[in-house]
Amino acid sequence: MSPNPDFRPLPPGSTIGIIGGGQLGRMAALAAARLGYLVHVYSPEKDGPASQVAAAATLAEYTDEAAIEDFARKVDVVTFEFENIPAESVRLMAAHVPVRPCWSVLEVAQDRIREKSFFNSIGVKTAPWREVSSLKELRTAVAEIGRPAVLKTARQGYDGKGQVKIVADTDLAEAWAALGAGLTAGGNGVLEGFINFRSEISVIVARGADGAWQAFDPVWNVHRDHILDTSTAPAPIPAALAGAAMDIAHRAAEELGVVGLLAVEMFVTDDGLLANEMAPRPHNSGHWTMDACVTDQFEQFVRAVCGLPLGSPERHSDAVMKNLIGNDAAQWLDILNDPCAKLHLYGKAEARPGRKMGHVNRITPRTGRP
Ligand code: AMP
Repeated sequence: MSPNPDFRPLPPGSTIGIIGGGQLGRMAALAAARLGYLVHVYSPEKDGPASQVAAAATLAEYTDEAAIEDFARKVDVVTFEFENIPAESVRLMAAHVPVRPCWSVLEVAQDRIREKSFFNSIGVKTAPWREVSSLKELRTAVAEIGRPAVLKTARQGYDGKGQVKIVADTDLAEAWAALGAGLTAGGNGVLEGFINFRSEISVIVARGADGAWQAFDPVWNVHRDHILDTSTAPAPIPAALAGAAMDIAHRAAEELGVVGLLAVEMFVTDDGLLANEMAPRPHNSGHWTMDACVTDQFEQFVRAVCGLPLGSPERHSDAVMKNLIGNDAAQWLDILNDPCAKLHLYGKAEARPGRKMGHVNRITPRTGRP
């Protein structure tokens, strides 16, 4: 029997194709370069954070089939730092080259309804939810789930975009209209019960083509203005809960057959863990691993995608990651004055409000541990 190509490691010197040109692609490209790989970035954005550090870049829309096909012919494997790309583009690439993770994983992660159905189907709890595709269905769903609740677009939402909170006096017609543009573009909406969580945590798991897996410690995430502000590692939660969170992420990756990374965000409630959403790629809440773990999330991502053995995710330092949003990055010199602060800037020229410009990891080495 010929060896399964999925199990054959891609040797250094090969080219990794990355779909998406943002900071996740940039940091993945830097990790890939360290291991001797070349990266070819595909993005509609000129001179984005990833293209600046990549060996090659294609500047084209995700729907440009000719450009997609040409890109696929030039690379040895394709992966994503951004998952909202059309099915047809993924199919075209998969005809030429291994695509990791595969389309069925992206398809679930692109759509909150599929995502929640998937979690529930493997016995992972979520907030109570209903699919809503009209104002009439929204009224019924609110009557069933109760207020407060959150109405979200099923697709294309991020950093709190495409979400409306429904409180006691919210007019449902107005809430529906507020999501209108997102709904027209992306299909249905989903109504979720509002969860009075104790905290938010996330786990990132890496899974190789051979099914081997490794998970990073769960982290505690705090959001500001709907954007991740800090991730604290380790999350200050009991060991049993941390183990349960890692188990959820692992089971999800296993059931989906992820090859690469899967980040799962969860709410910690009085009744245990509820899964909120997932992303099949490196994740902002994993940036702390760059300075606090034996193998960071970007190297682990490259290893998984290239069919290499996974590295140890062990945490050698505790860490607090803070995102530098908009003008926060102007503090770069103050940050560098702290000798235990590790500064990462993404090379974005313009510091718009809400734009992720970089992050800083503040590190406490775990010296003297048993
Ligand atoms: P999401 O885009 O689903 O990750 O939501 C962004 C943030 O909004 C989450 O990290 C939570 O802080 C908050 N959020 C989302 N859904 C809910 C919910 N059902 N109940 C309470 N807070 C929520």
